[in-house]
Amino acid sequence: MSCCTAPSSPRSDHQQSFSPAAGGEGAALTRPSRGAMYALAESIASISRTRVAYCRRRRLTGSVALLTYVATDGAPRAVFHGVLLCGSVWECPVCRLRLCAHHASEVERVVEAHRTAHGDDAVLLLTLTVRHAHQHGLRALRQGVAEAWRLTAQGSWWARLDALLGLPLSRTRAGELRTTPKLGVIRALEVTHGAHGWHVHLHAVLLLGRALPDDEREALARRLHQRWRARVVRALGPEHAPDRAHGVDLRPLRCHPDYLTKLGLRVADPSAPVAKHGNRTPLQIAHAYASKRHPADAALWQAYCAAMRGARMLTWTHGLRAHYGADETLDDAVATTPEGQAHHSLGVIPADLWHALGAIPHARVHVLEAAERGGAPEVERVIRRLLGLASAPRPVLVPPEE
Ligand SMILES: [Zn+2]
Repeated sequence: MSCCTAPSSPRSDHQQSFSPAAGGEGAALTRPSRGAMYALAESIASISRTRVAYCRRRRLTGSVALLTYVATDGAPRAVFHGVLLCGSVWECPVCRLRLCAHHASEVERVVEAHRTAHGDDAVLLLTLTVRHAHQHGLRALRQGVAEAWRLTAQGSWWARLDALLGLPLSRTRAGELRTTPKLGVIRALEVTHGAHGWHVHLHAVLLLGRALPDDEREALARRLHQRWRARVVRALGPEHAPDRAHGVDLRPLRCHPDYLTKLGLRVADPSAPVAKHGNRTPLQIAHAYASKRHPADAALWQAYCAAMRGARMLTWTHGLRAHYGADETLDDAVATTPEGQAHHSLGVIPADLWHALGAIPHARVHVLEAAERGGAPEVERVIRRLLGLASAPRPVLVPPEE
């Protein structure tokens, strides 16, 4: 069987307790704009916890600075400085868009560097699922899945795998730098919801020290299935154990040209229609609530937010990013610090104007787009139009101090 022609993930065609992937797999993915995410965040503010509802709205300083910088794609990007950033990849549509873009570019850079160094067949994508049903709570499920993975990737068998297929990764222990062979693992946690409740699955990019031929990969998949099944039973109970046809899917990453989407790092447009009997992503649930205001969707969204608090979306084998020249310490900082590096200040929005803008739907994203389109004069024009200030006695955007 060619690795690329099999179904692209463990599927549920005959077993209803395994959920199909969200949104219709293989469908063209449209990406939401920043404006759409701001609009969605505003629409669900009433069912968001305070910190998330105030993300990019609450001032942390006397006035709000408007900064621009050149993004990695060469386009100008504008950001507010001096406002709260909630940093929640699960609960905040705007932070999710930004953090996923950050993670996606980092994963892509490391994966491409690894492919160049070791070849296409030294990069595998592992997908792990568990059996689940409507009555299973999300927090217990996602904690159990994380624990089952932790138990899978430890012990003497895994240590032999590290020795056979690992990369020379370094870490400091007791003040001493040690280099040992370790499998490079980038693990992503993803959650969807459907007729059979919450579906929690893990995708792991495995970066190996050498290319793995098909027969070795298939043997590894069989062994991983046994281990995964046994660890799922230990962590979650026998009712969650996947059968032989499900639970583990392992194939070369080259079979998944859309691997960043599978890892959940390319945010799909939440307004895209959901496939019949398809699972919904959490942002699709939020979008459904924003457009139809069904209390059931609000309850589902809030249950999801509460259950995911504290969960890590992406984890890396220690030393893997450093091996490819990246900084391993930035993860938490990036969530709550303004994006971009070399900022140029367009000016300052005084507190009273900031609050007036906050009362107008979508005003903040209009200001950002104006800054990117035409700099300070365009921002001045747009703010005056939004606030109905045809002839204000003072500039609405106070120029930066020299
Ligand atoms: Zn946020």
